[in-house]
Amino acid sequence: MCACPVAAAAFSRDLFCCMMKPYTEKTVLVSGGAGFLGSHLCERLLSDGCEVLCVDNYYTGSKANVAHLMDNPYFEMIRHDITFPIYLEVDKIFNLACPASPIHYQFDPVQTTKTSVHGSINMLGLAKRVKATILQASTSEVYGDPEIHPQSESYWGRVNPVGIRACYDEGKRCAETLFFDYHRQHGVDIKVARIFNTYGPRMHPNDGRVVSNFIIQALRGQPITIYGDGSQTRSFCFVDDMVEGFIKLMASEPEFAGPVNLGNPHEITIKQLAEIIVDITSSNSEIFFQEIPEDDPRRRKPDISLARTVLDWNPDVSLSQGLGETIEYFQKLLDC
Ligand code: NAD
Ligand code: UDP
Ligand code: UDP
Repeated sequence: MCACPVAAAAFSRDLFCCMMKPYTEKTVLVSGGAGFLGSHLCERLLSDGCEVLCVDNYYTGSKANVAHLMDNPYFEMIRHDITFPIYLEVDKIFNLACPASPIHYQFDPVQTTKTSVHGSINMLGLAKRVKATILQASTSEVYGDPEIHPQSESYWGRVNPVGIRACYDEGKRCAETLFFDYHRQHGVDIKVARIFNTYGPRMHPNDGRVVSNFIIQALRGQPITIYGDGSQTRSFCFVDDMVEGFIKLMASEPEFAGPVNLGNPHEITIKQLAEIIVDITSSNSEIFFQEIPEDDPRRRKPDISLARTVLDWNPDVSLSQGLGETIEYFQKLLDC
């Protein structure tokens, strides 16, 4: 037993800290951590030895997505809307909070813009105060309905500023502006990822997105709803590849701020996607053509040369492999 009371107090405090919360490499804040991408990212950060603070208002995310992490002493869930200030002590921030699917972000478009703009200001203010590096989950939607194909980071985009997708597209564009101005004006270390369509387990079953819709329709034997003639294209990235991209981007040299495209360049038409999903699920669903939504981009494919060169990142999960895992997830969900 130590005779000096001050040393004894310090010793017992150290012992207490050691027992209650062993040393971690980094404390990381994930806003939107209870969502599809966020929950996978939280999982990955925990397995990398980080302490994770997950902030989410459950607008489109759910406790179920992070239920398996709740018993982990390095994981903490905070119910909070990032359009309001929040004071935390962290080393890194991943700003993912924002509804991502068209039906979700168009449900309350004013809140969508507020989340991108007010939410980014609060997250950037936090990053500035604690000197944390902050990564923004931007989107290929900043390119709008593009005239350039494939899309590279130097393309400034073609967005309708008053259309029904503008709350999301323009909100994300303004967020990018804020990130670069906090960087230039206040020296905040930023990373901006332009994420292209990503899919995988824990996608919201009612998000109306093409992958979740087609899989659920195929598994239920319901008509597959193609909007338009199905000749529009997208390029789909599996969630594990995307999370790897986030980790590599956060770990990149401080001088590298982006923006950088993250996505899988394998481009297919929506009709081809429907046929592949019908085939993998051995479904007898028929294809059914419906009206195409306003401002629906015709083509989308990332040029990922920058990510390949600077981050040494390359998505390697094939569409059939990724769809297989996603179909398995939705099958279990439907069986519940
Ligand atoms: P998601 O809807 O599953 O996740 C978003 C999360 O943010 C949800 O948990 C939601 O509850 C939370 N959230 C929304 N508004 C909030 C607010 N004001 N305060 C706190 N939490 C809030 O979507 P996702 O697919 O996981 O997307 C994550 C991020 O990646 C989003 O910023 C999205 O714009 C971006 N992104 C995703 C894709 C994709 O294909 N999934 C493509 C491009 C960009
Ligand atoms: N902010 C926050 N958490 C912090 C620091 C700041 O939520 O730890 C918010 C704060 O409420 C402010 C915003 O971030 O509205 C922007 O902060 P900044 O310091 O850039 O601007 P200012 O406080 O001067 O408005
Ligand atoms: N889409 C479709 N049927 C559906 C859902 C979507 O044909 O049931 C189309 C949609 O019109 C778009 C593409 O699939 O052309 C991708 O839609 P999603 O909402 O998944 O992503 P985003 O348009 O944001 O890329």
